[in-house]
Amino acid sequence: MSSYVIIGNGAAAVGAIEGIRSADPDGKITVISKERHHVYSRPLISYLLEGKTDEERMLYRPRDFYEKNGVTVLYGETAEKLDPEKKTVALSGGKTLSYDAVCVAAGSTPFVPPIEGLDTVPKRHAFMTLDDARALEADLCPESSVLIVGAGLIGLKCAEGIIGRCKKITVCDLAPRVLSSILDAGCASYMQKKLESMGVEFLLDDTVARFDGNTAEMKSGKTVSFDVLVTAVGVRANTSLVKDAGGEVNRGIVTDEKMATSLPGVYAAGDCVEATDSTSGAKKVMAIMPLAYMQGHCAGVNMAGGSEKLDNMLPMNSIGFGGLHCMSAGSYTGECYEEKTESGIKRLYTEDNLLKGFMIIGDCDRAGIYTAMIRNKTPLDSVDFDTLKSAPALAPFGKEYRTQKLGGVV
Ligand SMILES: Cc1cc2nc3c(=O)[nH]c(=O)nc-3n(C[C@H](O)[C@H](O)[C@H](O)COP(=O)(O)OP(=O)(O)OC[C@H]3O[C@@H](n4cnc5c(N)ncnc54)[C@H](O)[C@@H]3O)c2cc1C
Repeated sequence: MSSYVIIGNGAAAVGAIEGIRSADPDGKITVISKERHHVYSRPLISYLLEGKTDEERMLYRPRDFYEKNGVTVLYGETAEKLDPEKKTVALSGGKTLSYDAVCVAAGSTPFVPPIEGLDTVPKRHAFMTLDDARALEADLCPESSVLIVGAGLIGLKCAEGIIGRCKKITVCDLAPRVLSSILDAGCASYMQKKLESMGVEFLLDDTVARFDGNTAEMKSGKTVSFDVLVTAVGVRANTSLVKDAGGEVNRGIVTDEKMATSLPGVYAAGDCVEATDSTSGAKKVMAIMPLAYMQGHCAGVNMAGGSEKLDNMLPMNSIGFGGLHCMSAGSYTGECYEEKTESGIKRLYTEDNLLKGFMIIGDCDRAGIYTAMIRNKTPLDSVDFDTLKSAPALAPFGKEYRTQKLGGVV
Protein backbone atom coordinates (compact mmCIF):
# COMPACT_ATOMS: atom_id res chain seq x y z
CA MET A 1 0.00 0.00 0.00
CA SER A 2 1.35 3.42 -0.97
CA SER A 3 1.94 6.09 1.62
CA TYR A 4 1.30 9.77 0.86
CA VAL A 5 2.19 12.82 2.92
CA ILE A 6 0.66 16.26 2.36
CA ILE A 7 2.31 19.26 4.01
CA GLY A 8 -0.29 21.96 4.73
CA ASN A 9 -4.05 21.79 5.16
CA GLY A 10 -5.60 24.38 2.84
CA ALA A 11 -7.35 24.27 -0.55
CA ALA A 12 -4.29 22.76 -2.26
CA ALA A 13 -4.18 19.96 0.33
CA VAL A 14 -7.88 19.19 -0.23
CA GLY A 15 -7.22 19.06 -3.98
CA ALA A 16 -4.32 16.65 -3.35
CA ILE A 17 -6.44 14.40 -1.13
CA GLU A 18 -9.25 14.25 -3.70
CA GLY A 19 -6.75 13.76 -6.52
CA ILE A 20 -5.05 10.85 -4.72
CA ARG A 21 -8.37 9.22 -3.89
CA SER A 22 -9.53 9.45 -7.53
CA ALA A 23 -6.59 7.21 -8.47
CA ASP A 24 -5.93 5.22 -5.28
CA PRO A 25 -8.82 4.44 -2.93
CA ASP A 26 -6.67 2.60 -0.37
CA GLY A 27 -3.29 4.32 0.08
CA LYS A 28 -2.37 5.85 3.42
CA ILE A 29 -2.70 9.66 3.48
CA THR A 30 -1.24 11.82 6.27
CA VAL A 31 -1.77 15.59 6.37
CA ILE A 32 0.60 17.75 8.41
CA SER A 33 -1.27 20.85 9.55
CA LYS A 34 0.47 23.71 11.33
CA GLU A 35 -2.92 25.34 11.98
CA ARG A 36 -5.10 23.58 14.54
CA HIS A 37 -8.28 23.90 12.47
CA HIS A 38 -10.31 21.70 10.16
CA VAL A 39 -9.80 23.02 6.61
CA TYR A 40 -11.60 26.35 6.12
CA SER A 41 -12.03 28.83 3.32
CA ARG A 42 -9.33 31.43 3.95
CA PRO A 43 -10.98 34.28 1.95
CA LEU A 44 -13.93 34.16 4.35
CA ILE A 45 -12.01 35.47 7.37
CA SER A 46 -13.12 39.03 6.56
CA TYR A 47 -16.77 37.89 6.29
CA LEU A 48 -16.35 36.27 9.70
CA LEU A 49 -15.39 39.64 11.21
CA GLU A 50 -18.29 41.29 9.38
CA GLY A 51 -20.63 38.75 10.96
CA LYS A 52 -21.70 37.46 7.53
CA THR A 53 -20.52 33.92 8.27
CA ASP A 54 -19.41 31.74 11.17
CA GLU A 55 -16.72 29.12 11.65
CA GLU A 56 -19.05 26.24 10.76
CA ARG A 57 -20.11 27.81 7.45
CA MET A 58 -16.49 28.65 6.64
CA LEU A 59 -15.53 24.98 6.41
CA TYR A 60 -14.10 24.18 2.98
CA ARG A 61 -15.16 20.53 3.37
CA PRO A 62 -17.61 18.94 5.85
CA ARG A 63 -16.46 17.78 9.28
CA ASP A 64 -16.36 14.12 8.20
CA PHE A 65 -14.17 14.84 5.15
CA TYR A 66 -10.94 13.37 6.51
CA GLU A 67 -12.62 10.31 7.98
CA LYS A 68 -14.53 9.61 4.76
CA ASN A 69 -11.31 9.84 2.79
CA GLY A 70 -9.25 7.77 5.22
CA VAL A 71 -6.93 10.68 6.04
CA THR A 72 -4.98 11.15 9.26
CA VAL A 73 -4.43 14.83 10.13
CA LEU A 74 -1.62 15.78 12.48
CA TYR A 75 -2.88 19.13 13.83
CA GLY A 76 -0.40 21.57 15.34
CA GLU A 77 2.58 19.83 13.68
CA THR A 78 5.03 21.55 11.34
CA ALA A 79 7.08 19.76 8.68
CA GLU A 80 10.64 20.86 9.36
CA LYS A 81 12.81 18.89 6.97
CA LEU A 82 12.29 17.02 3.75
CA ASP A 83 14.74 14.27 2.78
CA PRO A 84 13.97 13.23 -0.81
CA GLU A 85 16.63 10.50 -0.80
CA LYS A 86 15.36 8.72 2.30
CA LYS A 87 11.78 9.81 1.40
CA THR A 88 11.08 11.14 4.87
CA VAL A 89 9.63 14.27 6.46
CA ALA A 90 10.80 15.32 9.94
CA LEU A 91 8.15 16.97 12.12
CA SER A 92 8.38 19.63 14.83
CA GLY A 93 7.09 17.15 17.44
CA GLY A 94 10.09 14.86 16.85
CA LYS A 95 8.40 12.23 14.61
CA THR A 96 9.63 11.29 11.17
CA LEU A 97 7.17 10.16 8.49
CA SER A 98 8.06 7.99 5.49
CA TYR A 99 6.37 8.51 2.15
CA ASP A 100 6.22 7.20 -1.39
CA ALA A 101 5.11 10.62 -2.64
CA VAL A 102 4.79 13.95 -0.85
CA CYS A 103 2.94 17.15 -1.77
CA VAL A 104 4.19 20.45 -0.38
CA ALA A 105 1.01 22.54 -0.06
CA ALA A 106 2.41 24.95 2.53
CA GLY A 107 0.91 28.21 1.22
CA SER A 108 2.58 31.48 2.06
CA THR A 109 3.57 33.64 5.05
CA PRO A 110 2.74 37.33 5.52
CA PHE A 111 5.76 39.51 4.96
CA VAL A 112 6.43 41.74 7.94
CA PRO A 113 7.96 45.00 6.72
CA PRO A 114 11.21 45.93 8.48
CA ILE A 115 9.91 49.34 9.65
CA GLU A 116 11.81 51.06 12.44
CA GLY A 117 9.98 50.88 15.75
CA LEU A 118 7.53 48.17 14.68
CA ASP A 119 8.30 46.27 17.89
CA THR A 120 7.13 49.28 19.94
CA VAL A 121 3.54 48.90 18.60
CA PRO A 122 1.52 47.16 21.33
CA LYS A 123 -1.34 45.76 19.20
CA ARG A 124 -0.18 44.57 15.80
CA HIS A 125 -1.60 41.89 13.55
CA ALA A 126 -1.34 40.08 10.25
CA PHE A 127 -4.52 39.07 8.38
CA MET A 128 -4.01 35.65 6.93
CA THR A 129 -5.49 32.99 9.17
CA LEU A 130 -8.58 32.31 11.22
CA ASP A 131 -6.46 32.81 14.35
CA ASP A 132 -5.27 36.19 12.99
CA ALA A 133 -8.90 37.26 12.49
CA ARG A 134 -9.87 36.17 16.00
CA ALA A 135 -6.85 37.92 17.55
CA LEU A 136 -7.63 41.15 15.66
CA GLU A 137 -11.26 40.95 16.73
CA ALA A 138 -10.19 40.61 20.37
CA ASP A 139 -8.19 43.86 20.14
CA LEU A 140 -11.00 45.90 18.53
CA CYS A 141 -13.56 48.04 20.28
CA PRO A 142 -16.01 50.65 18.92
CA GLU A 143 -13.55 53.43 19.83
CA SER A 144 -10.52 51.91 18.07
CA SER A 145 -8.59 53.65 15.32
CA VAL A 146 -7.04 51.08 13.00
CA LEU A 147 -4.09 51.62 10.67
CA ILE A 148 -3.71 49.09 7.86
CA VAL A 149 -0.39 49.13 6.05
CA GLY A 150 -1.02 47.80 2.54
CA ALA A 151 -3.89 48.53 0.12
CA GLY A 152 -3.74 45.19 -1.68
CA LEU A 153 -6.41 42.50 -1.59
CA ILE A 154 -5.65 41.36 1.96
CA GLY A 155 -5.44 44.88 3.44
CA LEU A 156 -8.71 45.94 1.80
CA LYS A 157 -10.54 42.75 2.76
CA CYS A 158 -9.41 43.39 6.33
CA ALA A 159 -10.71 46.98 6.13
CA GLU A 160 -14.07 45.76 4.85
CA GLY A 161 -14.25 43.14 7.59
CA ILE A 162 -13.87 45.66 10.41
CA ILE A 163 -16.02 48.54 9.09
CA GLY A 164 -18.61 49.16 11.76
CA ARG A 165 -16.51 47.49 14.45
CA CYS A 166 -14.21 50.45 15.08
CA LYS A 167 -14.23 54.23 14.92
CA LYS A 168 -11.69 54.90 12.19
CA ILE A 169 -9.83 52.94 9.51
CA THR A 170 -6.84 54.39 7.66
CA VAL A 171 -5.15 52.41 4.89
CA CYS A 172 -1.76 53.48 3.58
CA ASP A 173 0.27 52.17 0.67
CA LEU A 174 3.49 53.10 -1.05
CA ALA A 175 1.71 52.61 -4.40
CA PRO A 176 -0.34 55.52 -5.75
CA ARG A 177 -3.49 53.38 -6.04
CA VAL A 178 -5.33 50.55 -4.30
CA LEU A 179 -5.07 46.94 -5.55
CA SER A 180 -2.02 47.97 -7.55
CA SER A 181 -1.02 44.43 -8.53
CA ILE A 182 -4.48 43.68 -9.96
CA LEU A 183 -5.93 46.92 -11.33
CA ASP A 184 -4.78 49.91 -13.33
CA ALA A 185 -5.30 53.46 -12.04
CA GLY A 186 -8.70 54.00 -13.71
CA CYS A 187 -10.25 50.81 -12.37
CA ALA A 188 -8.62 51.14 -8.96
CA SER A 189 -10.20 54.55 -8.39
CA TYR A 190 -13.71 53.02 -8.56
CA MET A 191 -12.83 50.61 -5.75
CA GLN A 192 -11.13 53.32 -3.71
CA LYS A 193 -14.16 55.63 -4.00
CA LYS A 194 -16.48 52.83 -2.94
CA LEU A 195 -14.40 52.12 0.16
CA GLU A 196 -14.15 55.83 0.93
CA SER A 197 -17.94 56.05 0.75
CA MET A 198 -17.97 53.29 3.37
CA GLY A 199 -15.78 55.39 5.68
CA VAL A 200 -12.27 54.09 4.92
CA GLU A 201 -9.55 56.76 4.62
CA PHE A 202 -6.58 56.33 2.32
CA LEU A 203 -3.04 57.64 2.42
CA LEU A 204 -1.59 56.55 -0.93
CA ASP A 205 1.84 57.17 -2.38
CA ASP A 206 2.89 57.25 1.24
CA THR A 207 3.86 54.74 3.87
CA VAL A 208 5.14 54.45 7.40
CA ALA A 209 8.73 55.57 7.90
CA ARG A 210 8.82 54.88 11.63
CA PHE A 211 6.60 53.76 14.47
CA ASP A 212 6.71 55.15 17.95
CA GLY A 213 4.21 53.15 20.00
CA ASN A 214 0.77 54.08 18.71
CA THR A 215 1.99 56.78 16.34
CA ALA A 216 3.08 56.23 12.76
CA GLU A 217 5.37 58.80 11.21
CA MET A 218 4.73 58.74 7.49
CA LYS A 219 7.30 59.29 4.73
CA SER A 220 5.34 62.41 3.74
CA GLY A 221 5.87 63.89 7.21
CA LYS A 222 2.26 63.32 8.33
CA THR A 223 1.58 61.46 11.56
CA VAL A 224 -1.17 58.91 12.14
CA SER A 225 -2.35 57.94 15.62
CA PHE A 226 -3.85 54.51 15.95
CA ASP A 227 -4.78 51.87 18.50
CA VAL A 228 -4.47 48.73 16.38
CA LEU A 229 -2.07 48.06 13.50
CA VAL A 230 -2.53 45.53 10.68
CA THR A 231 0.39 44.84 8.34
CA ALA A 232 -0.69 43.56 4.93
CA VAL A 233 2.14 44.43 2.59
CA GLY A 234 2.33 41.08 0.86
CA VAL A 235 3.13 37.43 1.35
CA ARG A 236 6.09 35.17 0.62
CA ALA A 237 5.65 31.66 -0.73
CA ASN A 238 6.74 28.97 1.74
CA THR A 239 9.52 27.45 -0.33
CA SER A 240 12.15 26.57 2.29
CA LEU A 241 11.37 22.83 2.65
CA VAL A 242 12.05 22.25 -1.05
CA LYS A 243 14.90 24.76 -1.25
CA ASP A 244 16.73 23.27 1.75
CA ALA A 245 16.38 19.79 0.20
CA GLY A 246 18.13 21.07 -2.95
CA GLY A 247 15.03 21.58 -5.11
CA GLU A 248 14.57 24.36 -7.65
CA VAL A 249 12.94 27.41 -6.18
CA ASN A 250 12.36 30.90 -7.46
CA ARG A 251 9.66 33.22 -6.05
CA GLY A 252 7.73 30.01 -5.55
CA ILE A 253 8.58 26.31 -5.78
CA VAL A 254 9.23 25.54 -9.45
CA THR A 255 6.91 22.84 -10.81
CA ASP A 256 6.17 21.26 -14.17
CA GLU A 257 2.74 20.68 -15.77
CA LYS A 258 2.23 17.66 -13.50
CA MET A 259 2.99 19.78 -10.41
CA ALA A 260 6.19 17.76 -9.88
CA THR A 261 9.14 19.65 -8.40
CA SER A 262 12.74 19.04 -9.44
CA LEU A 263 13.06 16.55 -6.54
CA PRO A 264 12.01 12.92 -7.17
CA GLY A 265 8.68 11.99 -5.53
CA VAL A 266 8.11 15.59 -4.38
CA TYR A 267 5.11 17.53 -5.74
CA ALA A 268 3.92 21.01 -4.81
CA ALA A 269 0.69 22.97 -5.19
CA GLY A 270 -1.05 26.21 -4.25
CA ASP A 271 0.30 29.53 -3.04
CA CYS A 272 3.79 28.12 -2.44
CA VAL A 273 4.19 27.32 -6.15
CA GLU A 274 5.32 29.18 -9.22
CA ALA A 275 3.49 28.09 -12.36
CA THR A 276 3.17 29.23 -15.97
CA ASP A 277 0.57 31.90 -16.73
CA SER A 278 -0.84 30.58 -20.01
CA THR A 279 -1.81 34.08 -21.17
CA SER A 280 1.71 35.50 -21.00
CA GLY A 281 3.99 32.47 -20.69
CA ALA A 282 5.52 34.04 -17.56
CA LYS A 283 6.30 31.93 -14.51
CA LYS A 284 4.60 33.42 -11.47
CA VAL A 285 2.94 32.73 -8.17
CA MET A 286 -0.81 32.93 -8.84
CA ALA A 287 -2.17 32.94 -5.31
CA ILE A 288 -5.84 32.21 -5.75
CA MET A 289 -8.04 29.60 -4.21
CA PRO A 290 -9.46 27.82 -7.32
CA LEU A 291 -5.97 27.40 -8.72
CA ALA A 292 -4.65 26.05 -5.41
CA TYR A 293 -7.34 23.36 -5.53
CA MET A 294 -6.72 22.52 -9.20
CA GLN A 295 -2.96 22.29 -8.70
CA GLY A 296 -3.43 20.13 -5.61
CA HIS A 297 -5.78 17.81 -7.51
CA CYS A 298 -3.32 17.49 -10.39
CA ALA A 299 -0.45 16.76 -7.95
CA GLY A 300 -2.58 14.17 -6.11
CA VAL A 301 -3.52 12.26 -9.27
CA ASN A 302 0.12 12.12 -10.38
CA MET A 303 1.35 11.17 -6.88
CA ALA A 304 -0.97 8.15 -7.02
CA GLY A 305 0.34 6.98 -10.41
CA GLY A 306 -2.32 8.63 -12.58
CA SER A 307 -1.68 11.16 -15.28
CA GLU A 308 -2.95 14.74 -15.21
CA LYS A 309 -1.50 17.93 -16.64
CA LEU A 310 -2.32 21.56 -15.95
CA ASP A 311 -1.34 23.75 -18.84
CA ASN A 312 -4.05 26.40 -18.85
CA MET A 313 -3.53 28.31 -15.62
CA LEU A 314 -4.18 32.03 -15.53
CA PRO A 315 -4.30 34.71 -12.85
CA MET A 316 -7.85 35.64 -11.88
CA ASN A 317 -9.34 37.80 -9.18
CA SER A 318 -12.84 38.39 -7.99
CA ILE A 319 -13.36 40.90 -5.25
CA GLY A 320 -16.18 43.12 -4.07
CA PHE A 321 -16.77 45.87 -1.54
CA GLY A 322 -20.19 46.96 -0.38
CA GLY A 323 -21.91 45.53 -3.46
CA LEU A 324 -19.41 46.89 -6.01
CA HIS A 325 -17.83 43.92 -7.77
CA CYS A 326 -14.58 43.66 -9.62
CA MET A 327 -13.26 40.79 -11.70
CA SER A 328 -10.03 40.52 -13.58
CA ALA A 329 -8.19 37.72 -15.36
CA GLY A 330 -5.26 37.07 -17.65
CA SER A 331 -2.76 39.65 -18.83
CA TYR A 332 -3.35 43.22 -19.89
CA THR A 333 -1.50 43.36 -23.18
CA GLY A 334 -2.50 44.15 -26.75
CA GLU A 335 -5.42 46.21 -27.95
CA CYS A 336 -7.85 47.47 -25.32
CA TYR A 337 -11.62 47.67 -25.84
CA GLU A 338 -13.16 49.93 -23.20
CA GLU A 339 -16.76 50.43 -22.29
CA LYS A 340 -18.01 52.64 -19.50
CA THR A 341 -21.21 51.38 -17.95
CA GLU A 342 -23.59 52.89 -15.42
CA SER A 343 -22.04 50.86 -12.61
CA GLY A 344 -18.42 50.91 -13.68
CA ILE A 345 -16.08 49.99 -16.48
CA LYS A 346 -15.16 47.06 -18.69
CA ARG A 347 -11.78 46.59 -20.38
CA LEU A 348 -11.01 43.69 -22.68
CA TYR A 349 -7.48 43.10 -23.98
CA THR A 350 -6.99 41.29 -27.29
CA GLU A 351 -3.88 40.18 -29.13
CA ASP A 352 -3.14 37.73 -31.97
CA ASN A 353 -6.83 36.93 -32.48
CA LEU A 354 -7.18 35.95 -28.80
CA LEU A 355 -8.74 37.48 -25.71
CA LYS A 356 -5.77 37.87 -23.34
CA GLY A 357 -7.29 39.49 -20.29
CA PHE A 358 -10.02 41.65 -18.82
CA MET A 359 -10.88 43.97 -15.94
CA ILE A 360 -14.51 44.61 -15.09
CA ILE A 361 -15.84 46.87 -12.37
CA GLY A 362 -19.59 46.72 -11.80
CA ASP A 363 -21.65 44.17 -13.72
CA CYS A 364 -19.55 40.98 -13.60
CA ASP A 365 -22.45 38.60 -14.24
CA ARG A 366 -21.21 37.13 -17.53
CA ALA A 367 -17.48 37.51 -16.92
CA GLY A 368 -17.17 33.72 -16.82
CA ILE A 369 -17.59 33.73 -20.61
CA TYR A 370 -14.47 35.87 -20.97
CA THR A 371 -12.50 33.72 -18.53
CA ALA A 372 -13.47 30.60 -20.52
CA MET A 373 -12.42 32.28 -23.79
CA ILE A 374 -9.02 33.15 -22.31
CA ARG A 375 -8.53 29.71 -20.79
CA ASN A 376 -9.61 27.87 -23.95
CA LYS A 377 -7.71 30.24 -26.26
CA THR A 378 -10.85 30.68 -28.36
CA PRO A 379 -9.95 32.38 -31.69
CA LEU A 380 -11.86 35.67 -31.82
CA ASP A 381 -12.81 35.18 -35.46
CA SER A 382 -14.55 31.92 -34.55
CA VAL A 383 -17.13 33.75 -32.38
CA ASP A 384 -19.26 36.87 -32.68
CA PHE A 385 -16.81 38.90 -30.62
CA ASP A 386 -18.45 42.24 -31.42
CA THR A 387 -21.58 41.07 -29.61
CA LEU A 388 -19.62 39.26 -26.90
CA LYS A 389 -17.75 42.46 -26.10
CA SER A 390 -20.77 44.53 -25.16
CA ALA A 391 -23.60 42.07 -24.60
CA PRO A 392 -22.19 38.65 -23.67
CA ALA A 393 -25.57 37.47 -22.41
CA LEU A 394 -27.06 37.92 -25.89
CA ALA A 395 -24.23 36.41 -27.90
CA PRO A 396 -25.74 32.90 -28.10
CA PHE A 397 -28.87 34.30 -29.78
CA GLY A 398 -29.15 34.99 -33.51
CA LYS A 399 -28.62 38.43 -34.99
CA GLU A 400 -32.29 38.79 -35.85
CA TYR A 401 -33.36 38.17 -32.23
CA ARG A 402 -30.75 40.58 -30.90
CA THR A 403 -31.79 43.29 -33.36
CA GLN A 404 -35.39 42.85 -32.27
CA LYS A 405 -34.47 42.87 -28.57
CA LEU A 406 -32.10 45.83 -28.69
CA GLY A 407 -33.83 47.88 -31.33
CA GLY A 408 -31.02 47.45 -33.86
CA VAL A 409 -28.14 48.17 -31.52
CA VAL A 410 -26.23 44.99 -32.49
C1 LIG B 1 -7.85 37.77 3.53
C2 LIG B 1 -7.68 36.92 2.30
C3 LIG B 1 -8.61 37.04 1.28
C4 LIG B 1 -8.49 36.26 0.14
N1 LIG B 1 -9.42 36.39 -0.84
C5 LIG B 1 -9.37 35.58 -1.92
C6 LIG B 1 -10.39 35.60 -2.90
O1 LIG B 1 -11.34 36.41 -2.82
N2 LIG B 1 -10.32 34.74 -3.96
C7 LIG B 1 -9.28 33.85 -4.09
O2 LIG B 1 -9.27 33.08 -5.04
N3 LIG B 1 -8.28 33.81 -3.18
C8 LIG B 1 -8.30 34.65 -2.10
N4 LIG B 1 -7.31 34.58 -1.16
C9 LIG B 1 -6.15 33.67 -1.42
C10 LIG B 1 -6.51 32.23 -1.05
O3 LIG B 1 -6.95 32.19 0.27
C11 LIG B 1 -5.29 31.35 -1.27
O4 LIG B 1 -4.92 31.40 -2.62
C12 LIG B 1 -5.54 29.89 -0.89
O5 LIG B 1 -6.00 29.79 0.44
C13 LIG B 1 -4.25 29.09 -1.05
O6 LIG B 1 -4.43 27.78 -0.60
P1 LIG B 1 -3.17 26.90 -0.22
O7 LIG B 1 -3.72 25.56 0.15
O8 LIG B 1 -2.14 26.98 -1.28
O9 LIG B 1 -2.51 27.62 1.03
P2 LIG B 1 -3.10 27.91 2.47
O10 LIG B 1 -4.57 28.00 2.47
O11 LIG B 1 -2.33 29.08 2.97
O12 LIG B 1 -2.71 26.61 3.31
C14 LIG B 1 -1.39 26.29 3.62
C15 LIG B 1 -1.33 25.74 5.01
O13 LIG B 1 -0.06 25.14 5.21
C16 LIG B 1 0.36 25.38 6.54
N5 LIG B 1 1.81 25.21 6.60
C17 LIG B 1 2.77 26.04 6.14
N6 LIG B 1 4.00 25.50 6.35
C18 LIG B 1 3.79 24.31 6.94
C19 LIG B 1 4.66 23.30 7.40
N7 LIG B 1 6.00 23.39 7.26
N8 LIG B 1 4.13 22.21 8.01
C20 LIG B 1 2.78 22.09 8.15
N9 LIG B 1 1.90 23.02 7.71
C21 LIG B 1 2.41 24.11 7.11
C22 LIG B 1 -0.11 26.80 6.78
O14 LIG B 1 -0.19 27.04 8.18
C23 LIG B 1 -1.48 26.78 6.10
O15 LIG B 1 -2.48 26.39 7.01
C24 LIG B 1 -7.39 35.34 0.00
C25 LIG B 1 -6.46 35.24 1.03
C26 LIG B 1 -6.60 36.01 2.16
C27 LIG B 1 -5.58 35.88 3.27
